[in-house]
Amino acid sequence: MLKRKNIMIVFGKGSNINMISLVIPCYNEENNVEDFFRRCLEVFHQDIEYIFINDGSKDHTYDKIENLSHDYSHEKIIGINFSKNFGKEAAMLAGLKKASGDYISVIDADLQQDPMYVLKMVEFLQMNQDYDAVACYQDVRKESKLMVSCKSLFYSLVNKISDTHFERNASDFRTFRKYVVDSIIEMKEYYRFSKGIFSWAGFNTYYMPYTVQERHAGVTSWNFRKLTSYALDGFVSFSTAPLRLATYLGLIASLGSLIYMFIVIIQKLFIGNVISGYTTIVCLILLIGGILMILLGIIGEYLARTYIEVKQRPIYIIKDEIDYEKDK
Ligand code: UDP
Ligand code: MG
Repeated sequence: MLKRKNIMIVFGKGSNINMISLVIPCYNEENNVEDFFRRCLEVFHQDIEYIFINDGSKDHTYDKIENLSHDYSHEKIIGINFSKNFGKEAAMLAGLKKASGDYISVIDADLQQDPMYVLKMVEFLQMNQDYDAVACYQDVRKESKLMVSCKSLFYSLVNKISDTHFERNASDFRTFRKYVVDSIIEMKEYYRFSKGIFSWAGFNTYYMPYTVQERHAGVTSWNFRKLTSYALDGFVSFSTAPLRLATYLGLIASLGSLIYMFIVIIQKLFIGNVISGYTTIVCLILLIGGILMILLGIIGEYLARTYIEVKQRPIYIIKDEIDYEKDK
């Protein structure tokens, strides 16, 4: 049973209680991690635990994290180095598992999300004991119209077919109380669609607007293809409705065939056998063939994911680690 604690934050460095943990997934962020850390030093006067996860970067991100832990050895810095790129979802999971603060925030390393909002989220949770988490959403989306429309279509569709509610535009930039994180890390699935996982876990979440900044350095690792495949993960992980499509289409096709059969019999009995309908037959074969292929594809998507899930491979592999606790 999860019990809500009456948490009082004691601001001030050095205190181990009421610490804020920052989970920072990093992929090719060598030109951002130091500036991100300096920005945090400006913003926070609390006890902070920094958890940088190097998600198989191809640049010197991990060297930069190691340097930070040497140069700021009095700060609580953890560096997790993955053996390859496992994706942001895996990086978040590794960070959340490691976090020991009473408040735990997930924040990007590229300074698009100002650490100042972490304080706002923590303050909100302090003032509102009945809330368990805060999720930030972009007040103005700085994306192309096509991207905004595609995302809007995704949310409309997924909310129609899934029992889990997906809050429109809510980002991964969130702050949780510790017991929420304990529940999230209990979910062991390989395909992690975090927005769905957070929502599925329940808890009282407040949605806070924030203004997204331009990327400090480097380029985004998301492109249209990756986003489409991520959206597909969302559908397949949180709804089995597409599988039901086969049943519905089968019913419609059977009903159509019965009606057509009836028409053909009437024609045969009252008009005589008219040899025609070649075009109709070809069209129907192609149409039914196409529908069957699509349905096989949908079943394949579920099957492939089930196959990967039953293998129970680890979601990530850690190559090495820096831990302020162990390196004391
Ligand atoms: N990221 C990661 N692994 C990946 C891709 C991204 O850890 O495979 C990190 C990245 O370093 C950043 C955050 O996830 O801190 C968000 O990524 P990005 O800025 O590319 O996404 P966007 O802000 O454009 O949505
Ligand atoms: Mg970014």
